[in-house]
Amino acid sequence: MLQNKKIIVAIDGFSSCGKSTMAKHLAKQIGYAYIDTGAMYRAVAFYCLQAEIMNKYWEIDEERLRKMIQAISIEFRPNVNGESETYLNGINVETAIRTLEAGTGASKVSQLRIVREAMVKQQHLMGEKKGVVMDGRDIGTVVFPQAELKIFLTARPEIRAQRRYDELIKKGENVTFEAVLQSTVDRDNSDMNRAESPMRKASDALLLDNSEMSIESQEVWLLAEFNKVIALL
Ligand code: C5P
Repeated sequence: MLQNKKIIVAIDGFSSCGKSTMAKHLAKQIGYAYIDTGAMYRAVAFYCLQAEIMNKYWEIDEERLRKMIQAISIEFRPNVNGESETYLNGINVETAIRTLEAGTGASKVSQLRIVREAMVKQQHLMGEKKGVVMDGRDIGTVVFPQAELKIFLTARPEIRAQRRYDELIKKGENVTFEAVLQSTVDRDNSDMNRAESPMRKASDALLLDNSEMSIESQEVWLLAEFNKVIALL
């Protein structure tokens, strides 16, 4: 039965590699739910900034965060076009969490064990019935180490920074390329070197460097890998 053939697809990798574009597209093609775990850490950062649990120097009041963390609930709901949007305690924060500030804040809050534990718990619930494409940094290593298909995506930092810069400018954010490149490199370093669930390629993940690849060829490659796994079930 088709239903028995549902798997978990874990897509991890560096910031601004196009993980979400790739993951969203695959999810739509195969009728799976798409779960953007980066959005969850961004939503926590947004919450902390709003509630002044994190200040503009990125200092976090861990005691207050500890008290509040169970009250942070994140959901994904489809909009009128069927695209998944992020809700924080019932409020749509999809646009608010896509800023450079929320991205930097996310890389700070995501270093805390208490935050990771709470998010991983929510991610386990979202993926328990399988049939999900989940993207992040630790999906194939920590969240779903048993995922049937694991991808680790990378691209050169300048290329990633250019993609993120173009995206932010399109949204009307006032940023320089240098600031975006610096933030990309800083996030790589903090994601790879943090004590809690550092970003790693799982030993059984397929490595894809998409620096010189078009989005279309990447999507064709991913669907072929998915079909190979399904055929073996
Ligand atoms: O993927 P995105 O850039 O939206 O993620 C924002 C930040 O959230 C990352 O830089 C990373 O620090 C953190 N993150 C994480 N674990 C995940 C997903 C994102 O630590 N599974």
